[in-house]
Amino acid sequence: MTKNNQPKDAREVLDELGAKWSPDMGKFLAGEVDLSQMRCALCEKNPCACPEFGSDEYFALIDRRHGRRS
Ligand SMILES: [Zn+2]
Repeated sequence: MTKNNQPKDAREVLDELGAKWSPDMGKFLAGEVDLSQMRCALCEKNPCACPEFGSDEYFALIDRRHGRRS
């Protein structure tokens, strides 16, 4: 089941990148929601309620979103 020469679909590429997307990305791609209606990919809130960029809380949130535990 090799598929080296086949183009990857977007999901595969994103999985490889380990990208974190809004939980609404699927709906957005399906045209069901506007970009402005998407929840934040990091805090999963709309409007975004992320901690201040660069703060300890901000990095802690990123760590959580990446599944790391300290
Ligand atoms: Zn946010």
